[in-house]
Amino acid sequence: MTAATSVLVLVEHAAGEPDELSLQALALARSYAAAAGGELAAVLIGAPGAAAAAALGAHGVTSAYVAEHDALDDPDGFAPDAWAASVAELIERLAPAAVLAAGSERGNEVLARLGARLEQPMAANCVEAAAANGAGALVTRIRWGGSLLEEATLDGTPVLLTVAPHAVPAQALDAAPQTLPETFTPALDAEDQRVAVVERVAARTGGVSLTDASVVVSGGRGVGSTEGFAAIEELAALLGGAVGCSRAVTMAGWRPHSDQVGQTGTKIAPELYIPCGISGATQHMAGCKGAKRLLAINPDAEAPILASADYAVIGDLHTVVPAINAAIRKARET
Ligand SMILES: Cc1cc2nc3c(=O)[nH]c(=O)nc-3n(C[C@H](O)[C@H](O)[C@H](O)COP(=O)(O)OP(=O)(O)OC[C@H]3O[C@@H](n4cnc5c(N)ncnc54)[C@H](O)[C@@H]3O)c2cc1C
Repeated sequence: MTAATSVLVLVEHAAGEPDELSLQALALARSYAAAAGGELAAVLIGAPGAAAAAALGAHGVTSAYVAEHDALDDPDGFAPDAWAASVAELIERLAPAAVLAAGSERGNEVLARLGARLEQPMAANCVEAAAANGAGALVTRIRWGGSLLEEATLDGTPVLLTVAPHAVPAQALDAAPQTLPETFTPALDAEDQRVAVVERVAARTGGVSLTDASVVVSGGRGVGSTEGFAAIEELAALLGGAVGCSRAVTMAGWRPHSDQVGQTGTKIAPELYIPCGISGATQHMAGCKGAKRLLAINPDAEAPILASADYAVIGDLHTVVPAINAAIRKARET
C-alpha cells in the first residue's frame, strides 16, 4: 500500500531477532507515525530478516517488507549502496513521509547514501522528531559529541533521519500482533554492490561486544603501551566485560579502532564503566554518557573525567588495576 504508510523504518537484525537500536528507532517512529495519523512500516534487508520481522507487530509495525537478493542474503555481508537501493525502491512504492533508521554505523551509512540518491538532506543522532506543519520535520538532535542539543527544521520528502542510540527506550505493546512480512526482490546493479564487506575479523572481546557488555574497562594514554593492556584485559575478563579504549590509544596503534569509545568510536551504555588512564575529553565522554556508573582510575585528582565519576581511585593504574584483579581472584577462591 500504501498511501497510509507515513513512516518507514530500516530495521537491522541478527540471528532472527531485530536489533535493539532498531527497536529504539521504532519507538520514536511510532510516535511520529501516530501524530501524523499514518501507519508504521519496516524494511529488513536479506532473507534472514523474515524471522525478525514477525516480532515487529509488538513494536507497532503494521507492514514489514523483506528485501531478498543474492547480494543481500548473507547475514555477515553488508553492501551499503545495495541496502540504500532496496530502501529507495520501497520508498518509491510506499511514498512514506519519513524514513528512519537506528543511529548505528550501518543505519547512519545507509541513510546518508539514501539521502545522496534521493538528493534529500539527512539528520543523524535525533532524540526527538515530529512532522512539521506542511512538509519536513522538527527534530532535536545531539551535536558536538553530545555537548549540545540542536533543534532544527529538517526539509525533505521523505524526511530522512537516524535515532541516537540509547536516547529513546524501545517499547513493546502489551498485545503483540504478528507481522506477516512481504518479500520483494530489489533491482540491484553492479554499482550497488561496489562497496561490500568482504571479510570479518572477530574482535578480541572474549565474546562480549562493547555495545552489549554490562561492564566496560577502558584504557587511555596513561596505559602507556599495548602490553600495558594485559591487566585491563584481565579485569574485563574477571568481570565478564569488554575492553575499550580512548582515541589516543587507537592513534598510537595499541588497540584496534573497534575498541574505541567516543564520538568517533562506539557509544556504550554499560552498568559500570571503568576508564583507566583516560582524561575525559568531551569526545570520549560522548561515547560513555549512557553508562549507569563510572569508576575512574587516574593519578590526577583534577582530571576532567572525575567530574563525571561516581567513584574514583586516585592512583597509578599499573598498581591499582592489578590490585583489584588480585582482590577479585582472592575473593573467588574463598
Ligand atoms: C573530531 C574528534 C573526534 C574525537 N573522537 C574521539 C573518540 O571517539 N574517543 C576518544 O577517546 N577521543 C576522541 N577524540 C580525542 C580526544 O579529544 C582526546 O584527545 C582523547 O580522548 C584523549 O585520550 P586519553 O584520555 O587517553 O589521553 P589524555 O588526554 O592524554 O589523558 C591521559 C590520562 O591518563 C592519566 N594517566 C597518566 N598516567 C597514568 C597512570 N599511570 N595511571 C592512571 N592514569 C594515568 C593522565 O592523568 C590523563 O588524565 C577526538 C578528537 C577529535 C578532535
